[in-house]
Amino acid sequence: MKLPKTISEEIKAHLIDEEAKIKKTLVSLKLQDPFSDPDRLNDNAASDTEASEESSHERMEALEKELNIHQEEIHQALMRLEKGIYGKCVACASMIDTDRLAIKPTALYCVDCEKKKEK
Ligand SMILES: [Zn+2]
Repeated sequence: MKLPKTISEEIKAHLIDEEAKIKKTLVSLKLQDPFSDPDRLNDNAASDTEASEESSHERMEALEKELNIHQEEIHQALMRLEKGIYGKCVACASMIDTDRLAIKPTALYCVDCEKKKEK
């Protein structure tokens, strides 16, 4: 069984859209990151400003990491769409529920395998 073309086209459009959004967010994150400011080393900021810059840098790094993982997931999903294996569970090869894919288009496992994985 394969996904109907209309559905896979829809998912593809959604994934591409999502990927573009992530790219944009990553770029704006880089711009906001105080550590990427080249003038930062020259300014004699008070130490509490330093500390808050430090923690916001850490937050951004965590967010950036998350976005990178998500971007990779989307990339994988697009590759799988391309190959015509999208929607197939990577563990048991059965079709992933379309309701599940609607919620999580990057899902690699069917509900059963996902549950097994968590154990
Ligand atoms: Zn499975």
